[in-house]
Amino acid sequence: MSLSCVELSLDLLEACFAHALTAEAEEVMGLLLGDVSEAAGAGPGGGESTARIWALSFQQRIDKRPDRVEVGPEQLAAATQAAEDHGQRTGKRTRVIGWYHSHPHITVLPSHVDVQTQGSFQMLDSGFVGLIFSCFCAGAAQHEKRLQASAFQAFAVGGGRFERRLVPLRFVATPRQGARLGELMPALTRVQLAEQQHAFEAAAERLRRLGAEAGGAHGPALESARLHHASLFAAAVTHHLGTTGAALVQATHDRLRASQKRVGSLERERDALLLNGEETSPQGAEQ
Ligand SMILES: [Zn+2]
Repeated sequence: MSLSCVELSLDLLEACFAHALTAEAEEVMGLLLGDVSEAAGAGPGGGESTARIWALSFQQRIDKRPDRVEVGPEQLAAATQAAEDHGQRTGKRTRVIGWYHSHPHITVLPSHVDVQTQGSFQMLDSGFVGLIFSCFCAGAAQHEKRLQASAFQAFAVGGGRFERRLVPLRFVATPRQGARLGELMPALTRVQLAEQQHAFEAAAERLRRLGAEAGGAHGPALESARLHHASLFAAAVTHHLGTTGAALVQATHDRLRASQKRVGSLERERDALLLNGEETSPQGAEQ
């Protein structure tokens, strides 16, 4: 199925860029949850398929090499479960319909590897879509950084190869804009902390193995290497808490301000209704 359009809500667009902006040296990735609807008939709009995305599953990177993003079967299974949970909570059919990844410092167009990866996804689900979020690219003006997004699919050209096909990407506003972003940020922080924890534990394990192989030799050197990794871990955690934590605090402030405005508006509405009720009450007419 070739898609005519991809719809992404503005709050998810913000969340994807928030995720992309957390790593300047490596690509980050996640899975897209939603559904694909096909318009029936041959008239205008008939036969067109639209992928609508209404939730995300941030993915933990195991392989941190640049230009390398992979979705393992376990990650896909966890995201499928998250989609099912979302569907049960909201009563709306929800499934994994695509993937996204960031392009720090590079073009928003999919690379050759991206298109081949996309092609293999589409062999399992023809409506699957890929999104790319390009960031940290210099804009025309001084100190300007450009953020760009694209959606694409792949089509087979023979010999097991694929070519890219860009799909129009439409952004839609949602009523709970700021609140939604605030809800998504803790999940993003959890994934990033888990990544750091995984990297630290892998380094500590390597040192333990080296220590065992050395049979007690090089103790001070190995201890100093362990301390080095521990400080890198602490620095990375602090950095992430500084970037995502600050955004979370801002989102909470925005949410508080929006709630206070809503309370004020509801109180005014209540007072007006009470006043109206008093003016038109039968008791008032009798007196
Ligand atoms: Zn890519």
